[in-house]
Amino acid sequence: MSMSNLEGLLIKIRDDVSPSKNDLEVLLSKEDKSELKTIFSFADKIRKEFCGDGIFLRGIIEFSNYCVRDCFYCGLNRGNFKLERYRMGKDEVLSSVAFLAGNNIKTVVLQSGDDPNIDVAWLKDIILEIKKRFSMAITLSVGERKFEDYKAWKEAGADRYLLKIETSGKRLYESMHTDMSFDRRIKCLDALRDLGYQVGSGNIIGLPGQTLKTIAEDIIFFKEKDFDMIGIGPFIPHDDSRFSRQKTGEALLTLKVIALTRIVTKNAHIPATTALGSLDKDYRSDGLTCGANVLMPNFTPQPYRKLYEIYPGKRCVDEPVGACNFCMGDMAKSLGRYIDYGRGDSLKERKLSQNV
Ligand code: SAH
Repeated sequence: MSMSNLEGLLIKIRDDVSPSKNDLEVLLSKEDKSELKTIFSFADKIRKEFCGDGIFLRGIIEFSNYCVRDCFYCGLNRGNFKLERYRMGKDEVLSSVAFLAGNNIKTVVLQSGDDPNIDVAWLKDIILEIKKRFSMAITLSVGERKFEDYKAWKEAGADRYLLKIETSGKRLYESMHTDMSFDRRIKCLDALRDLGYQVGSGNIIGLPGQTLKTIAEDIIFFKEKDFDMIGIGPFIPHDDSRFSRQKTGEALLTLKVIALTRIVTKNAHIPATTALGSLDKDYRSDGLTCGANVLMPNFTPQPYRKLYEIYPGKRCVDEPVGACNFCMGDMAKSLGRYIDYGRGDSLKERKLSQNV
């Protein structure tokens, strides 16, 4: 393909209200170095135009690894009896939040497995306490719950919710989540939107059975749903999961998906995910130069951090908590960017209810 044809295609998917699946598939299949460079720098320009040069930080606290689900890719799956399970206490969660606040971070992501023993009122109290003590945005990522639970947490002050679709193909989704329903997951995402959460979703790249066509559909799905945040990470096989013998997702394909998602969605927040930093090398700075604008430093305290093993080789499992701040600053500087210590709320124009 000539360079001007390639540019033309990039402009087309940027401007189309509904980008074509075929165009996205063609772009996803690019392997030529100079063509890839064109795609990545096009995405980087859009990132700069719509999101600026600041990199937002989301400090993540993984507060429970109990899970009732059986996702074929995930190390926390309920059939993994080798894994020692934990649920942090309220005070432990709050002292981790205090530490994160002390590092000047203005978003906390509270993540866990799908743990029914996380009581609605318990998490609500934590949300109220965080809002009382600190000035920061709260993102929840605790999986599929009842509408009433989502509502109670929103009313208590939660700002955002992260629930990845993993793959937007219903059949593919249900083949690796055999006791889950794709429609139910969509219902959860819609309910979160209706409740006024800033909604994050995303996918995994390199899942068995996934094709460039299904990835193109994922990107179209992200655009249609107008998510405020989109997390895209490579699949990393876990020994104690059903997908233990499957191939690791490719960094390059993940970067292409980040770039095309940036071009199509323009101002969604896109993290350079921890999974992207956990392959043969750390590809997060590559992610930041082809569309990503967010980093997610880990604030889960030991001994829990090493037990939240959704995939093996997760970066920073042995780092002291808080070491991230230096590392992130250095990464930003090396790219001619800077860390933005603001909350980094959604850049979408819809009316946002912000809980201060
Ligand atoms: N229970 C919550 C949180 C899940 S863990 C929920 O369902 O939303 C957070 C994310 O880790 C998942 O959404 C998934 O995208 C990612 N993940 C899990 N296992 C993985 C693996 N083996 N490789 C890459 N990403 C994985």
